[in-house]
Amino acid sequence: MTKYAVVTGGTRGIGLSITEKLAADGYQVVALYHGNEEAAKACEEATGAKTYKVDVGNYSECEELIMQIENELGPIYLLVNNAGITKDGVFHKMSKDSWDAVIQTNLDSCFNMCRHVVPFMRERQSGRIVNISSINGQKGQFGQVNYSAAKAGMIGFTKALALESAAKGITVNTICPGYIATDMTSSMNQDVLDMIIKQIPAGRMGKPEEIAELVAFLGSEAAAFINRRSCR
Ligand code: NDP
Repeated sequence: MTKYAVVTGGTRGIGLSITEKLAADGYQVVALYHGNEEAAKACEEATGAKTYKVDVGNYSECEELIMQIENELGPIYLLVNNAGITKDGVFHKMSKDSWDAVIQTNLDSCFNMCRHVVPFMRERQSGRIVNISSINGQKGQFGQVNYSAAKAGMIGFTKALALESAAKGITVNTICPGYIATDMTSSMNQDVLDMIIKQIPAGRMGKPEEIAELVAFLGSEAAAFINRRSCR
């Protein structure tokens, strides 16, 4: 039977690597994106994923899309909440718009997606949810009060939802990546990046495919007893 995986932000960066890995593992992947049509088309052609445009910060858009996937494609087995943005700046100059955008896209999105997927998973007594948080949600980062708060929120969200879902055969875990080479980090100031890399034990940034491997494992049958974890 075809296994369906939904990956938010699945057409670029870490999400694209997750889409590639899951497609190679035999999933039918549904990769969601926000506005970059070119990346979505390239992802579809390269991986065979189906792509849909949605704002994961919008509750009713997520509801409509999940109903469409469940009714027209098939049962969602694995949900990866990966879509995320940064809008950095020191807190005393942070606008309400920057705060709202980051919380909506990174944290509200987990509610918006899970709220509609979880009832289906509970009914089927099986499912996997993997949330992509960040090391900065664990330790905080200068200039990222909004992002650190959203990513820390994802960890609490994961731990509580996992408690409610375990008895129904659903696992919920969070991955907290360190710095990964994608569009998100390519816009960072090189001096800041060099400073950050010096503090990484491996002495380099991570690769998106290194996160994808862990997502694939947490989504597998082999990971049935791994739950409520924050993996780095
Ligand atoms: P990218 O900026 O490379 O890609 C972000 C993806 O999210 C894109 O596919 C984008 O769609 C999608 N997206 C953005 N906003 C929305 C929205 N409102 N609705 C739907 N989709 C949206 O990011 P990364 O691959 O670097 O990051 C992926 C995740 O990993 C994020 O949650 C990030 O916070 C987290 N992370 C990243 C780290 C890093 O160093 N890169 C480190 C730790 C965590 P579109 O292409 O249409 O714009």
